[in-house]
Amino acid sequence: MTHGPEAKDELRHLPVINGRVARSSIRTDGQRVRVDPADTRGRFIRARRVVFVILIVAWILLPLIPIGGHPALFLDVDTRRFYVLGQVFNAQDTWLVFFLVTGAGFGLVYTTALLGRWWCGWACPQTVFLESFYRPIQRLVMGPREARLRLRARGGPAVFARRLLTHALYGVASVVVAHIFVGYFVSLPKLWAMMHEHPGAHATTFAWMLALSLLFYVDFGIFREQFCVVLCPYGRLQSVLLDDDSLVVGYDDARGEPRGKGKTKAAGRGDCVDCGRCVVVCPTGIDIRNGLQIDCIACAQCVDACDEIMDKLGRAPGLVRYDSLRGLRGEARRILRPRMVVYTGFLIAGIVAATLGFRKHEAFEANLLRLPGAPFTRDEGRIRNGFEIHLVNKSARPESFHVAPEEGAKETFIVPIADVTLEPLASQRLPVFVTVPQADFTHDHPIRLVIARGGPRPEKRVLSATFLGAR
Ligand code: SF4
Ligand code: SF4
Repeated sequence: MTHGPEAKDELRHLPVINGRVARSSIRTDGQRVRVDPADTRGRFIRARRVVFVILIVAWILLPLIPIGGHPALFLDVDTRRFYVLGQVFNAQDTWLVFFLVTGAGFGLVYTTALLGRWWCGWACPQTVFLESFYRPIQRLVMGPREARLRLRARGGPAVFARRLLTHALYGVASVVVAHIFVGYFVSLPKLWAMMHEHPGAHATTFAWMLALSLLFYVDFGIFREQFCVVLCPYGRLQSVLLDDDSLVVGYDDARGEPRGKGKTKAAGRGDCVDCGRCVVVCPTGIDIRNGLQIDCIACAQCVDACDEIMDKLGRAPGLVRYDSLRGLRGEARRILRPRMVVYTGFLIAGIVAATLGFRKHEAFEANLLRLPGAPFTRDEGRIRNGFEIHLVNKSARPESFHVAPEEGAKETFIVPIADVTLEPLASQRLPVFVTVPQADFTHDHPIRLVIARGGPRPEKRVLSATFLGAR
């Protein structure tokens, strides 16, 4: 919040909730209100830090650790090959992205109905990067909130120099984050090699890295909570995704009100001592005591802040807590409710469809196709059909294949290339000629070929086509 002469004007333009001037990072006239959250201590901030470290380590390791000879996650846009945990996908598999996108979207809808905005407060990259890299930089150079406010009020060249340093470090952090991000598309070892060459040698990659660095700098260094409050579509959908039984961060109005300052509790007063700690720690600058607001990212910093105050006052924690709106009203929270039953039905249907879809993603593709031109030819008393096998190795490692007629076949098969080894996602066309003596031909009939993949995971597949001829 602004301090000084602009404060009055700012208050005039803040939204009013339940007759109170509400805290917000945006005024009713659209102006941004500066948010400078204070640090918190407590069980939730500790747990979140652990989660953030795990997520960041996973994010760094995914393009580094090899699975099946390739990075665990490598979206090779150059060759349009996508390596995901040992599986390789190509452009023909993009239909599977439908399951990934809808699955992630619906998973978020489902878990939001149950657990509220767990994603925003605990796992969203906006929160994870901001809280893990950028705010610590700000704290390191400018000090904690009170020191920052003092410095800002004082101004002068020394403060300017500190702010410059802060933003320079934001820039460095943004470049590092952008490099790892780009590593997902060119692989980290290749990126490392590129970094030792002139930027002009890899102009496109370099341009992407610069653009992403700028984007991250503006977002995490300047835009910050405005992304959650103004831009994020998931945040905008909260009013339809949440209901009275979803888990939210809320203030126990019945217990806290009427609020009043002072350590000793006067008769008839609630537990809230109106210290404002829950407000100053809020990264989106709201006052949770005004009720659930769309700006709340459920980070639980106000929970830790209030618990600390309650602890100092010798009162029970949980005046601000994770609970459902129903629970905050003193009623029992329902997990199983019509919305969850319908969602669970959709979830099961989605899982079944996705499982079937991914099972269709075969380790190799083999199709027996008739050669273009005449359907059959006659040659020295024999009828001849020409085919070709279109073979694609869709696994992440080189594979060997062997082509042979099915056992007991009456036709004569000529397979010029019976054995072939293909690199990942490589394909080859293998000609196959089938002949039948004219005298033995009675009618069109099916023919069968067996294609066998060797190696540690052998697999056989029978390909069939129709042998055509005339008597
Ligand atoms: S109100 Fe509490 S939980 Fe919501 S964003 Fe602010 S500090 Fe986080
Ligand atoms: S931190 Fe707790 S006691 Fe202090 S103002 Fe917020 S709700 Fe009231």
